Order: sequence, then C-alpha cells, then structure tokens
Amino acid sequence: MPRAATAGPRLDDYVAGVRSGDRAMLARAITLVESTKPEHAAHAQALLQALLPATRRALRLGVTGVPGVGKSTTIDQLGMNLIAAGHRLAVLAVDPTSKRTGGSILGDKTRMSRLAQEPNAFIRPSPTSGTLGGVTRKTRETMALAEAAGFDVIIVETVGVGQSEIAVADMVDFFLVLLLAGGGDDLQGIKKGIIEIADMIAINKADGDNVTRAERAAAEYRAALQILTPRSATWSPPVLTISGRENIGLDALWAKILEHRDKTKASGEFDLRRQRQAVEWMRDMLSDRVMERLKSTPKVAERLPALEAEVRAGKLLPTLAVDEVLSLAGIGSN
Ligand code: GDP
Repeated sequence: MPRAATAGPRLDDYVAGVRSGDRAMLARAITLVESTKPEHAAHAQALLQALLPATRRALRLGVTGVPGVGKSTTIDQLGMNLIAAGHRLAVLAVDPTSKRTGGSILGDKTRMSRLAQEPNAFIRPSPTSGTLGGVTRKTRETMALAEAAGFDVIIVETVGVGQSEIAVADMVDFFLVLLLAGGGDDLQGIKKGIIEIADMIAINKADGDNVTRAERAAAEYRAALQILTPRSATWSPPVLTISGRENIGLDALWAKILEHRDKTKASGEFDLRRQRQAVEWMRDMLSDRVMERLKSTPKVAERLPALEAEVRAGKLLPTLAVDEVLSLAGIGSN
C-alpha cells in the first residue's frame, strides 16, 4: 500500500529526493508509480514528467534464465564488481507470476545478499499483481525513476518463461541469456527461440567438474548461432562461459557488454533501439489507457460481460462484439 501519495511528500519533495539519489525516496516514488489507485495516477505522471530530463543516461541490461540457472548469484557478484568499479546499480524484476509469499521471487533482496547491503545498489522486486503488460509498464517507469536517481547501470531480471523475456528484451539495451550445460538443457534455447533475442549467451556454473561440459555446450551454441541470420550488422551474439558463484568470466562478460554499447552507438543502432522502445512504450500505454477509458464508459461496462459471454459461447463473432463496444463508446466507424 502506498504510504506515498495521500498524506505523503509533495511533488517537489519527490523530485528533489529522487534526484539526490535518496533510496528511500526512490522506493516511495516507485510505490506511487506502481499504485493502481486513480488518485495516484496524475501525481505519478507529473513526477515522471518532472524527472524525464534526468533519465536515459543509464545502461540497461536484461538478464533471463530458468529458475536455478544462477541469475541472482550472478547479478549479486557482477553487481559487486560494478560497484567496486564505481558504478551505481539498480536491479528490477519483471515477473507477472510473483507472489510475496512462498518460494523465492525475482528481485528479492535476500537472493542478492551482498548487493542488498550496498548503499550503491537498489533492488526492487516485481510488482506483485497484474498482467505481464501491466508489470512491464510499471517496470519501464521504475527504470526511469532509478535512472533519474543516478543509477547508471540498470539490470532487469526475468524468468525464462512465457512472454516476459521478450517484454524485457524490448526495454533494455542489452539482453543476456543465462543457460546451463547438460541436463537436457543443451540447445533448448534454440527451441524456445530465445537466442534469437539474445545479445549474448553465458553458460553459467562453468566451475569445478563442470568446466569441460560448459565449454562443450558453448561450442554447440556458437555453431548454432552461426546458422541464424544475425539481427545486427555490427554485432554477432557471443557465447561465454562464466561462473557467477566463483566470479569467473564476469569481467569478460562486462567487457563484451561495453563493446556492444560502443559498437552499436557508433553504428547508430543503440539510439534506434531506444527510439523504437520509446514508441513501443507509448503504444502500450495508449492501448492501456484507451482500454481503461472504454471500460469506464458506463454503457460499455454494463454490456461487456454479456458480450464476452456470447463470444465465449460462440454465439457472437469477436469482430461484431468489438464493433458493438466501439459504437457504445461513441467511437464506432459507423
Ligand atoms: P536463480 O534462480 O536463477 O536466481 O539461481 P540462483 O542464483 O538462486 O542459483 C541457484 C543455485 O545454483 C544456488 O544453489 C547457487 O548457489 C547455485 N549457483 C549459482 N551460480 C553458480 C555457479 O556459478 N556455479 C555453481 N557451481 N553453482 C552456482
């Protein structure tokens, strides 16, 4: 529940607090933005608007992988390395399935125990309710707030299920896929189509007895990637082996991320990707808001459940139902 808006800080206080990098204020600002209460929405939008000039400066990195692949271990270690190098890091999560009770959840502070104690790190779990679309939109806004608060590296973490990884790939500058060697996992990424959106693949847990298997898996992925047509003329996704737990290969991994940034900035792809993402964000928001407006139109709200029931029962074609909704809302084509 947001303590924020009602009796909480005024807009100026939020803006100043976030800009000064105050983590408590940032957390409250995010709570305000995540709020689904209509009375918070205008306040949240005004805040984002006021902070907009301070955003877009961070490097945005997406990380995905199945549960157990080592996301939190790797982010914890990579984050510590980055902080030691003078960066400020925010870790956000996109996980529409997350529940605050039972089991580990993405972005949970206890999963990144060292980062959680770092003043130069900010960890924010995924909003606990809502559709993927809703969670995605909130995460984009949260990312803007974290950037305005001076975090120069933002990691968006997601589980390798469903559509969430595509949503995350669509909001970051670099998308990293973590995989494991063996256990039937080899080449599974290809089946899932995930490597088509990867900017890099890292085979994790390449330590101890597992080094040879990890190297073998990396070679297989490299061969497989060569068959695919690269998405970019300037970047072929590399395949690395790392150990998040033992801090092996993470410097090389970070160097690759910077190399990607430099090369795509030089070619113009970096900015193009961001521009495309900004328009995508706008479109998502637009359809969201139009949908909200539609649903709050009394005539539509009244008729919608019946229309959905008729469509479900096969008595009404979806196209006809849409026409009726639009004409009830006064925006039909005829
Ligand atoms: P997540 O669910 O993807 O966040 O995975 P975790 O980071 O929680 O890791 C799952 C398990 O794998 C934990 O027991 C970790 O200690 C272990 N693990 C993570 N990274 C490594 C690694 O690089 N090497 C080895 N050997 N184990 C690891």
